[in-house]
Amino acid sequence: MELLMERIRQEGLILSDTVLKVDSFLNHQVDTQLALEIGREFARLFGDKSVTKVLTIEASGIQFAMATGIALNVPFIYAKKKKAVTLSEKVYSAPVYSFTRQETYQVSVSQKYLSPGDKVLIIDDFLATGAALAGLVDIVRESGAELVGVGCVIEKSFQEGRSLLEKKGVLVHSLARIASMSPGEIHFVQDHRL
Ligand code: 5GP
Repeated sequence: MELLMERIRQEGLILSDTVLKVDSFLNHQVDTQLALEIGREFARLFGDKSVTKVLTIEASGIQFAMATGIALNVPFIYAKKKKAVTLSEKVYSAPVYSFTRQETYQVSVSQKYLSPGDKVLIIDDFLATGAALAGLVDIVRESGAELVGVGCVIEKSFQEGRSLLEKKGVLVHSLARIASMSPGEIHFVQDHRL
């Protein structure tokens, strides 16, 4: 998605060879029109899959899952990272190891909101190691729903996330794929379909 890549080139802060900060338009302050455009692009990419629910993980995937849900006219669900006192009903859950925090946390979705008849599209902001998204894939499979694919706003293609998901048989579409980066320099994977 050229518009997105241009914003990353202009406003992305490359903190190291592996960490990209996009707080001015995606992760802290959110450009609402860009978020809606991202939702429309995911709806275009997965539009033929009869999606019934969009699933993400709190907190940074929420605005893109919501934009995609609006574009597809379906609800979105966000998996919770901690078992809230209000989440007293039965849940599907999976452990996720966070490399940034070096700890394992549990993600949960109420069993009320996913069922075998659903066709689920998973959306998230970043694909890095793939650990967070692999947890969501496990939750969808545990529920018996059909997983139609994963959509990521930004993929760091030099990390192992895509291959981890593809090994699980998951279709992955990312809107900006970073081949390599270092402070002051960024290269995208050339992909003419995007
Ligand atoms: P994972 O390693 O499980 O694929 O990524 C987990 C989460 O870490 C992502 O959903 C994203 O919120 C965050 N993350 C990973 N890499 C980056 C990065 O380079 N920049 C930012 N802003 N977040 C990242």
